[in-house]
Amino acid sequence: MKIYGCFINGRHEFNNSNNIISVINPFDEKIKYKVEESNFSQIESALEFGYKSFKSGVWSKLDVRERSEVLNNTATLIDKNIEELIKIEVNQIGRPIREMRAQLGRLSEWFKYFASLIRVFEGSVTPFKGDYINYVERVPLGLVVQITPWNHPLLISIKKLSCALAAGNSVVLKPSELSPVSILRIADFLNESGLPKGVFNIVQGYGSKIGEKLCVNNYVSKIDLTGGDKAGKIIGEHAGKNGIYYSTELGGKSPMLVFEDCEIEKAVSGITFGCFIASGQTCIAGTRLLIQKSISEKFLSSLKKKMLSLKIGDPYSLETNIGPVISRDSLLRIDNKIKEAVKEGGEIIVGGKIHTKIKSGFFYEPTVIMTKNIANIAQEELFGPVLSCIIFDTEEDAIRLANDTKYGLAASIWTENLARGHSVASKLDCGIIWINDHHKNDPSSPWGGFKNSGIGRENGYEAYMQYTHTRSIIANYSRKYDDWFSDQASRYS
Ligand code: NAD
Repeated sequence: MKIYGCFINGRHEFNNSNNIISVINPFDEKIKYKVEESNFSQIESALEFGYKSFKSGVWSKLDVRERSEVLNNTATLIDKNIEELIKIEVNQIGRPIREMRAQLGRLSEWFKYFASLIRVFEGSVTPFKGDYINYVERVPLGLVVQITPWNHPLLISIKKLSCALAAGNSVVLKPSELSPVSILRIADFLNESGLPKGVFNIVQGYGSKIGEKLCVNNYVSKIDLTGGDKAGKIIGEHAGKNGIYYSTELGGKSPMLVFEDCEIEKAVSGITFGCFIASGQTCIAGTRLLIQKSISEKFLSSLKKKMLSLKIGDPYSLETNIGPVISRDSLLRIDNKIKEAVKEGGEIIVGGKIHTKIKSGFFYEPTVIMTKNIANIAQEELFGPVLSCIIFDTEEDAIRLANDTKYGLAASIWTENLARGHSVASKLDCGIIWINDHHKNDPSSPWGGFKNSGIGRENGYEAYMQYTHTRSIIANYSRKYDDWFSDQASRYS
């Protein structure tokens, strides 16, 4: 089997060591790829090439028209090779092919969006007092480290990468050890599109070893991580010690607030999508269903029917709705949490056990459990196909329950009363809120959370601002000469 390596200074690099990471497909449990863990000298080299490329100005000072062209060319190559990318993603993480088609079908938009943004972005001139002109430029930060998770390997890497490169930064990226292969193809496309060597580098390995090594050095100006709370706190500490920027996109326990004035069938299919896409393994998965008492019975019976109609199985089949979870560990963890929740008084409405009808793979039955908002199952991120259901009486109760969590990533509100939709949205403590929808994402739309769900934003103008900082230039155009130390100096007055 071919062994993949890392990507440094425009080339795939190998160290021929025995530290091999095997990528196991969670459906057939077979090894699909092997990747060498990078060694410390490769990491040093990736950081050094990245840093030198930034300092050289070969990309950071390149005319934005040329930077934009490289990004647009990359977008074209992504679209041309989309089927190959989809296949790698399904092989790595076992998500149903129909989901990966929908997600990766929009991947190139991120490169196109940021390629356009840098063509129209204008600096500013401040109302500086006196005969001065103060113009403010936005300039790239330097070498940035990007650390990405396994659940949307390409989407999350591209969200970060397209913005950082557009802004003129150099990048060292570490993909998750569970999904390290697809990003290597993007490196090829960037090369082919004319990105100067050294501007984009990839290293491979485990977070606590290779990830941390990337965070502790003198080359890096920003660390950008998407991952769990634990990794988020660790990289925050490193960034604080080094005095550099950082941003984190972390976990969530997103509520879906269903009001009695919703359209039931529409809400049922939206809630099923909101919680069970990717087998619940997304940060913004709607994992807490807050349902108004007056419609709870009717709604839950319709939801149960919908869930029992979902096809669980082979992710390579276009018919499949629900694929496996990422690993056996994850499967057993979910099962244990459900057992604990039942012991604590939770009532299973549907699902609630490991799915055993398929010969191989890590399948859990899509599950709805009636519980209390304070229960662990309703508070901890589970990363599996499990929906905790909590009943409320009034709008005020729904808002209180929705906000009663350490997370603040996303929420959805289901109502046909748009005044209610906007009013409730304005009271929710989270970064992304959908009204009558869930999950919808766009390169232009800010993405990120409140509270323990992270710091900073991906996407759009905001992300661009966070991958640049300002250089403020103050020019004196006064014809008068001012001697600071003379008794007549105007500056004293
Ligand atoms: P994880 O935290 O285990 O790993 C994420 C990445 O961080 C991996 O590349 C990993 O190797 C690295 N890492 C882990 N420990 C590290 C350390 N000490 N130092 C440096 N790097 C380290 O998360 P995961 O299991 O890959 O992904 C799932 C998590 O990501 C969930 O909590 C999910 O909510 C979150 N997530 C958030 C968003 C968002 O946009 N907010 C999107 C997707 C996933």
